[in-house]
Amino acid sequence: MTGREPGSATDAGQRGLEPDWAGWYPGRWRTELAELDATGWNYRLGVDAGLVRVDIDWPIPPGLPGSAPAERSGRPADPAQVDEASPAGDAGSQVCRIQVVFPHEYPFFPPEVRDHDDRLGLRRHRGPLGVLCLLEPEDWNSDLTVAALLTRQLPQILAGGLSPDAPPAGVEVQAPEPVGLRLGHATADIALIMADARPPTDVTEGALLARFYVQMSRHIGPGIVEAIYAPGYEHPGPRPAHEHGYPLLVPGRWARDAAFDPNASPEQTWTRLESRLHPVELIHEGPADATHDDGTAGADGAGADGAGADGAGVDGAGADAADAEGVRNASEDLEVLCLLVPSEQGYREPGEGWVALLRANLEPSPKYHYLQVQAMGADLDGGRTRFVRDLRGAHVVVVGIGALGGHVATDLARAGIGRLDLVDGDVVDIQTACRQFAPTAAAGRTKVETLGGHLRSQRPGVEVRAFHRHLGRVSRRDALDATERDRLEEALRTADLVIDATAAPAVTRYLAALRQAEGKALLHVSGTAGGWGGCVYLYRPGGGCWACLQHHRADNAVPIPTADPDGMVNTGCADSTFTGTNADLATIAHHGSRVALDLLDGGDGLAGGSPSVLDVAHLRDRHGRPQPVRWDTRPLPVHPACPLHVTVALEPTNPPNEATTSVPGGADSHRARDGS
Ligand SMILES: [Zn+2]
Repeated sequence: MTGREPGSATDAGQRGLEPDWAGWYPGRWRTELAELDATGWNYRLGVDAGLVRVDIDWPIPPGLPGSAPAERSGRPADPAQVDEASPAGDAGSQVCRIQVVFPHEYPFFPPEVRDHDDRLGLRRHRGPLGVLCLLEPEDWNSDLTVAALLTRQLPQILAGGLSPDAPPAGVEVQAPEPVGLRLGHATADIALIMADARPPTDVTEGALLARFYVQMSRHIGPGIVEAIYAPGYEHPGPRPAHEHGYPLLVPGRWARDAAFDPNASPEQTWTRLESRLHPVELIHEGPADATHDDGTAGADGAGADGAGADGAGVDGAGADAADAEGVRNASEDLEVLCLLVPSEQGYREPGEGWVALLRANLEPSPKYHYLQVQAMGADLDGGRTRFVRDLRGAHVVVVGIGALGGHVATDLARAGIGRLDLVDGDVVDIQTACRQFAPTAAAGRTKVETLGGHLRSQRPGVEVRAFHRHLGRVSRRDALDATERDRLEEALRTADLVIDATAAPAVTRYLAALRQAEGKALLHVSGTAGGWGGCVYLYRPGGGCWACLQHHRADNAVPIPTADPDGMVNTGCADSTFTGTNADLATIAHHGSRVALDLLDGGDGLAGGSPSVLDVAHLRDRHGRPQPVRWDTRPLPVHPACPLHVTVALEPTNPPNEATTSVPGGADSHRARDGS
């Protein structure tokens, strides 16, 4: 800490206390110091984590609160300050110590301004550790100096920030300040994930059930609240996939707490509520439940007896405790308390928000933490993605989970598709990580389970089924897995959409015939050798079928995507494979996803009014040089020479009066069929 008299002309740079950005903008640094000198404020220069800091004794304007230190508890001392005398103490009670830290990228970005001692008693615009919310970063103007910022802005946020009910100041940041923003000083670096449940306002407390991730280091990771209970009320939360390691079942309580003080420590808050809340009664059921069909053990047995005078009960708690090595008994080692507390919903819009506390019952004394609260649920997606309709009712099968199908499946899961079936007979080969999801830890596992598990862990609301099968390949497993095979065929027939990303012509012909016979849509996504181009082809009943497309191609009536003449490689004894970069192939795949999502959302799959459509991508020129992607889109009518529109390929769905002889059909015969 370097002492500095107000108005001193000492050049701070000579003492080495010059911000690194001053090397680029020496004039700016001189201006900052000159303007600070001109204010008459007492200030000192220091260094904070390698960044130059200015400590300012800011005189609180007369008539504003702050003459006495606000009474605060539980706030830990700033380690940078513990050895230093508080200059505010000497300067009198009308002075507030303001710390200003310049970012490395100053003056393109605003300085961080902290009200270190909370002497202003702000209820808004003061984050964890006292960081003040003065300006939106995008509102920062590089011409502003620290002296100008504090002179102009501080009195205004004082006016608007003293109370959540105070009238807004003219320039205050117009963003909601949920209560979680103020808990940073005691928040663990793990989150509790929960649905945005809102129990009825007349219910004050209840039970909940959470599962925690257990890391290899045996530390706990994030938790997921599976359900929140109260008498006559149950709100199911997201369900973690058991295989993804949320084995630690932790019962908990929740309560409404209008008296919540964000400045209190988690221990103080817990202790204050302990006597008020009814205890959760644990009912141990002995060994863990059998694993359920969905792979989630134990969770189905959980239920609450209610939170009335008899106390809340959570059945099944602790059933999986033995899964977490090193944890003696989950239900005794950890406890969760979730509070519904006053919190801004929108800018200056009062409401309720969740705060989560964790107590770890360690020796010799328990440890308390706030947990970050993160909301999850398909019903929340609309806030970010603005879907016209939600897609939870949609069922899609993706066949071929490779460089194209993997991207498509991921897009659909992120979009919140209700049911997603993945079909692929391959296993993860880490050499393919250059263009698909292939974590080294999954080498040798089936592709469908690897990607399926990943998608389930990201999107617990999406029902993902994995079919490890090569369609059409004779397999001894088939005899054993007849049920699975039947399930798959049922899905291929009845799904809202089947997406073929196999690059296997026989599979494409099979799927095309199956879907055509069922009168249902098929989407085909493929890249050419080298990934120089690709096709996205959508079939819908009444439009040109896969065989029609081949006829149109023979007529040179549809564009042909660019291909690398040397784009096929044989990397070993396995099937030869296409070359192609992820960026090129993903471009084709994402277009396929957009077509699929539009179709599922009630659109026509970007087909411009035509039932079937072909989109051809040219990603590289004929020398293989990348170019801006050019899409050639053609409606795909039924081809007059295509026999499939009068000959039904699959017997089981053949209407009894349908002709089965192969007759070269004309446009008229198509119309007759389509109209029936
Ligand atoms: Zn056809």
